[in-house]
Amino acid sequence: NIIIGCCLAVGIAIAAGYWLARRALIPIQNSWQAQQQFVADASHELRTPLAVIRARAELLLRDPKQTIEEKISDISTIYRETRRLHKLVAHLLTLARSDSNQLELNIESFAFDSLVHEVAGHFKELAQIEQIYFQTEISPSLFIQGDRERLHQLLVILLDNAFKYTPSPGEVTLTCRKSGNHVLLEVKDTGVGIPEKDIPHIFDRFYRADPARKRTDGGTGLGLAIARWIVEKHGGKISVQSEPGKGTSFLVKL
Ligand code: ADP
Repeated sequence: NIIIGCCLAVGIAIAAGYWLARRALIPIQNSWQAQQQFVADASHELRTPLAVIRARAELLLRDPKQTIEEKISDISTIYRETRRLHKLVAHLLTLARSDSNQLELNIESFAFDSLVHEVAGHFKELAQIEQIYFQTEISPSLFIQGDRERLHQLLVILLDNAFKYTPSPGEVTLTCRKSGNHVLLEVKDTGVGIPEKDIPHIFDRFYRADPARKRTDGGTGLGLAIARWIVEKHGGKISVQSEPGKGTSFLVKL
């Protein structure tokens, strides 16, 4: 009986140890898989612009019969793809640093309305060039505690998208106001909208709603993943409402 009891106890101890080890290992395994997926997706996204740049540079170097128009076209493509790479690398660095907890917020108290005015100012020029009607409604004295640089990045991501996905003649409206203890920021456009089936995924890394819009607009599929990270790190919420063909509205509560 003593021997059977001992064997049972050892058996139970081994089973419990195995179960506990598996429970501890599953999250590590999942995070390792997520990390591998991120590296694979990032490499894939980097490869496309690099291949285009290489092909165009080869044409410029090897084809002596190219007309000046063809040369200009190749150089513009190289320029556009280099800009895309630059943005992609900056976004990848932000996400990689946030994953490894190396990116801490630099919290200070500041006037959010002046930051919003500053960023909106940059987009006014773009609005003129792209012939999009850009309206702003920014309440004064919106003091908040936050990371100025990251919130600047958040505004740029949301406005950049609103302009990118709104064909001319369209409208982009930026509203910022106080609601109780919160600041509400809304970026609304009358652009292409987002299909309902894509809405749950648009904050995922590398997700782009319509393959037809790929590549040419300089998108990376990482902007909204970063936007969500910034908002959540500030203890805020970001939500979206959209209707295909009518427009999209992103609402941020800080
Ligand atoms: P991207 O670099 O492709 O814009 P984002 O992460 O910023 O990447 O956005 C993910 C996807 O969400 C976009 O590819 C686009 O399909 C959709 N999207 C984001 N903002 C808008 C918008 N204002 N109007 C329509 N679609 C949008």
